[in-house]
Amino acid sequence: MAFLRNAYHKIQKELEPFNASLVAVTKMRSTQDIMQAYDLGQRDFGENYVQELLEKHDTLPKDIRWHFIGHLQTNKVKHIAPFIHLIHGVDSHNLLLEINKQAKKMDRVISCLLQVHISKEETKFGLSETEVNLLIHRFVTQPNELNGIQLSGLMGMASFTEDNDLIISEFNKLKDLYHNYKASLSGINNPFAILSMGMSADYRFAIEAGSNMVRIGSLLFGSRERA
Ligand SMILES: *Cc1c(COP(=O)(O)O)cnc(C)c1O
Repeated sequence: MAFLRNAYHKIQKELEPFNASLVAVTKMRSTQDIMQAYDLGQRDFGENYVQELLEKHDTLPKDIRWHFIGHLQTNKVKHIAPFIHLIHGVDSHNLLLEINKQAKKMDRVISCLLQVHISKEETKFGLSETEVNLLIHRFVTQPNELNGIQLSGLMGMASFTEDNDLIISEFNKLKDLYHNYKASLSGINNPFAILSMGMSADYRFAIEAGSNMVRIGSLLFGSRERA
């Protein structure tokens, strides 16, 4: 496996007119491969597993912005709280409270995205629309309770399917939610500005639907053994 330089340049060019940023997903990738992307100027990298992230954070350059994109267990938050740039997969009130607590301990404000369940699949993590509503309501009505958190936007994953219309409709649903919340949060001066959707297989649909952050692994580094 290696870093695919041409694919990297091609994707960056495609994202440009949409003002979408690229998170290079590096789970199970070697330090050498990651450094090739780094040397081309890539600074945003995404990881799914805490242990792997900690090892990479230790050995790789300190100006990398690490994104946690996997399912985060509350008991692991403390390990990444000192340095994490953005947590994409917040899917419970408990997790939000724990991130808040650890952020305050570190004297940090940690940026988070709420993960919304938009796919037809049972197994994917994420909040229902009702749960997102509740969390955002809490955030709006009790801003001081969660002042270690910056609520930066939403994240979602479309169904893994050949049915492009379904993928597009799921992304559009998330886009609508995002714009509704962006409007309702504008009053409390909270920079709610990130819509994280799109992976190797579906990022073109995602940016067409309004995504401004895509998370791409396989297209940049080749296919993975396990995912
Ligand atoms: C692995 C992963 C990605 C990247 O997937 P690719 O298909 O390799 O681009 C994006 N988002 C999440 C949440 C992931 O777990």
